[in-house]
Amino acid sequence: MRIGQGFDVHAFGPGKHVVLGGVTIAHSRGLVAHSDGDVVIHALCDAILGALALGDIGRHFPPSDDRWKNVSSRHFLLHCAGLMIENGWSLANVDVTVVCEYPKVGPHADAMRENLAADLGCAKSEVNVKATTTEKLGFCGRGEGIAAMAVVLLQRRRAPRAETPTNPDLDALVARLDLDEAR
Ligand SMILES: [Zn+2]
Repeated sequence: MRIGQGFDVHAFGPGKHVVLGGVTIAHSRGLVAHSDGDVVIHALCDAILGALALGDIGRHFPPSDDRWKNVSSRHFLLHCAGLMIENGWSLANVDVTVVCEYPKVGPHADAMRENLAADLGCAKSEVNVKATTTEKLGFCGRGEGIAAMAVVLLQRRRAPRAETPTNPDLDALVARLDLDEAR
């Protein structure tokens, strides 16, 4: 198993909507970002990359690269899901917390779960999106921006033989206990 966590913040700026978890939500302000400023997906990408020990989203999609200007963050998530599968892992579950006073996230949480599950190739029941405020404290409380935190747990899709130490005793133990999944 592998665990990863991610955190992201974007400040409010001019605009008429925000994009969270791939869902466009009407709002009196937008989020300042090179891409669409989707804090939910950015935190989730960082959590996946963290679990894979592959650095962070900035390394894979540098803001200095104009290819990522105004691009949908779902593109980043698909890329991270691809890296996860390529490296032999599958998703056990995802848990995301969005922190802001406005807009209200709750009514859109289900639609976000659907988007995230679709991009990750997993069941909606493996993806949770929840929201909280900071009781008007700090930058989120003052309505200056939105923050998101994500945690993911990955499990092995298959036993990667090349990475598995060749220990006949261990192999015998695994065979006897049917522990293949745990490796
Ligand atoms: Zn971001």
